[in-house]
Amino acid sequence: MYCRNCGAAMDPSAVVCIKCGVPKGSGRNYCMNCGAQTAPEAVVCVKCGVSLGAPNNSAPTAAGGQKSKIAAGILGIFLGGLGIHNFYLGYTTKAVIQLCLTILGWILAIPTLGIGFLLSSAMSIWGLVEGILILVGNIKQDGKGIPLQ
Ligand SMILES: [Zn+2]
Ligand SMILES: [Zn+2]
Repeated sequence: MYCRNCGAAMDPSAVVCIKCGVPKGSGRNYCMNCGAQTAPEAVVCVKCGVSLGAPNNSAPTAAGGQKSKIAAGILGIFLGGLGIHNFYLGYTTKAVIQLCLTILGWILAIPTLGIGFLLSSAMSIWGLVEGILILVGNIKQDGKGIPLQ
């Protein structure tokens, strides 16, 4: 096998390349199977066809996918009981809990002569608090870990 960074032949049991010192498999300049030069974005070696794996700089980038802090905060403050801000941010489980408990509160309000509304109110307060936490920056990222804008 070959070093993906410098193309030097390396022992398959080696952990790092003895020539350039990078860990085995890091680097994207050469095929680890045949040692041919590869394009940095290539996912397969054009010479031997072996899979080169995903480019190692494909860490989640924020470009385009960032959610608005202001929008999420305002949604939380006004519609927090319905979990809209959490649906928006991708915290779906939490959003569903808030939505279900709010609706449950409305349904229970009829047989309990209004006491059920307390549950809905509690959800609204939860959403309100989360909305404020989003606006002040205590909640910094969405459900996928992408920072808010
Ligand atoms: Zn090397
Ligand atoms: Zn190859």
